[in-house]
Amino acid sequence: VFQLSVPLNFLGSVYRELRQSLLDMETLFNLQKVNIAVQEKPNASPLTLNQGGVVRFENVSFAYRPDRPILSDLTMTIPAGRKVAIVGPSGCGKSTILRLLFRFYDVQSGRITIDGQDIRDVTLESLRKSIGVVPQDTPLFNDTIEHNIRYGNVDASHEEVVAAAKRAQVHDIVEGLPEGYATQVGERGMMISGGEKQRLAVSRLILKDPPLLFFDEATSALDTHTEQLLLGNINGILKEKARTSVFVAHRLRTIYDSDVIIVLKDGTVAEQGTHEQLVENNGIYSELWSAQEMLFTEEGEEEGQAEGR
Ligand code: ATP
Repeated sequence: VFQLSVPLNFLGSVYRELRQSLLDMETLFNLQKVNIAVQEKPNASPLTLNQGGVVRFENVSFAYRPDRPILSDLTMTIPAGRKVAIVGPSGCGKSTILRLLFRFYDVQSGRITIDGQDIRDVTLESLRKSIGVVPQDTPLFNDTIEHNIRYGNVDASHEEVVAAAKRAQVHDIVEGLPEGYATQVGERGMMISGGEKQRLAVSRLILKDPPLLFFDEATSALDTHTEQLLLGNINGILKEKARTSVFVAHRLRTIYDSDVIIVLKDGTVAEQGTHEQLVENNGIYSELWSAQEMLFTEEGEEEGQAEGR
């Protein structure tokens, strides 16, 4: 984060001059954490989403370091226009899957395709433009709330920014700030809570409106009630636009309604199916679900205060 703080501030002040195609903020955020090891092929062509956004991992193996495999022979399909959840123990490689899809790293064997095209054969720009992510932690720019949301689409009007904020359950909070959408946030502005940040990140994604959407623990800092409202709105958008979406989540209550739930273990798919099928299976998912349901019932009363400022 330290290394990039200067360029990010710089971008914040001149962003109006930057073209959307050059400025994919999620990409930038993720760049903070990784080395760029991938190269575009000289004859790469733009990704064409001619099947609605089917994502396939075919026998994918990947390790950051040779002695420690993260994904081993992973095969999975994320069907077009469906909501898919990826669950599994901490450190099992869920965020790595997102990094591979964005092509921050290349797989060591197997392949990843989107609508049948190997992602190594398409231009990086077209790939990253097609994918939107709400990452685990979204840094804010030292700029106004309005501009922070508008990074999703620099051509958006004020009305579009407000509409996105409403759907992301953050409009009322913004309205309550001393200067509303003109309030400065980030290190040099007002500090806002983790849950508010997450909702600003969702507003950005709604404005960007990419064909493929990834949510990496995107609502983990919200109280249960706000989380339910936000997820309801997100589900509405996904259905309305028939978008392919992937949710990485620890709290199974946020994903149990997914069309497919993929359970990872030891770098590969341990189970997959709908919530009902997986509960019936009596496997890992079923165990996790029972454990979390018990916790949920015990903690239910306290959770409403989780986001107090
Ligand atoms: P969580 O649920 O805790 O977010 P995750 O399933 O998303 O975890 P990843 O972030 O994909 O897990 O990480 C998988 C493993 O790879 C972890 O053990 C992590 O320490 C390791 N790892 C992640 N990034 C790197 C990196 N750049 N270099 C080396 N190891 C890494």
